[in-house]
Amino acid sequence: MTTIGNRLQDILATIQSAKITAHCQQPVHLLAVSKAQPVLAIREAYAAGQTSFGENYLQEALEKQTQLADLAIEWHFIGPIQSNKTQLIAQHFAWVHSIDRLKVAQRLNDARSVDLPPLQVCLQLNVSGEASKSGVALQELAHLAAAIATLPQLKLRGIMAIPEPTSDKNKQRAQFKQVRECYDALLAQGFVMDTLSIGMSEDYPIAIEQGATIVRIGSALFGTRKLGASK
Ligand SMILES: *Cc1c(COP(=O)(O)O)cnc(C)c1O
Repeated sequence: MTTIGNRLQDILATIQSAKITAHCQQPVHLLAVSKAQPVLAIREAYAAGQTSFGENYLQEALEKQTQLADLAIEWHFIGPIQSNKTQLIAQHFAWVHSIDRLKVAQRLNDARSVDLPPLQVCLQLNVSGEASKSGVALQELAHLAAAIATLPQLKLRGIMAIPEPTSDKNKQRAQFKQVRECYDALLAQGFVMDTLSIGMSEDYPIAIEQGATIVRIGSALFGTRKLGASK
């Protein structure tokens, strides 16, 4: 088996053991984050059984999609969204994790063809509260969720968050717990959702312990990112 194939098996095993250790009932899906990775790496992961891939940069993603058109990949957009990119994002992805304002949601809704299934979306929550970071503020979350729930071409699936990076496991846990509590609060208000998109290479076992249903993993699967411009 290839290196990527081996790493994929290791990650899936780690996901299983994290679920068992924390007595988790929820399904946990692996999203392979392929930004700044060559198409050959994506082909390797796909050959090993991985079918959903996340990309952050529209142009890079579109080029890869063209080169990988022979594979049945489910593409997720997970990067910051500029409103002039919504047309293409709405047409070329199955999921968008990074909605943080109504204008972007409305534009995605308007651009999504009615002959496609609704775009599956998560709201990106700004956990750290820093003004510089993307994501919707905690106080605005329910309001945005309510507005999005009325858009017919979007299907609200849940919440995504990128907590402040830290190697302190207790801090990781506290941040994920905060996201989980926001998610639970929306469920309690009657929003129908099933997705908590938290956890990356460095912290996904703790994210699973706190209720993650999608973990977004790049470097632990593919190794160091390779393509030039992207981070
Ligand atoms: C890059 C990225 C990831 C993956 O990060 P790794 O640390 O390489 O696993 C996950 N989510 C988002 C939004 C990203 O931009």
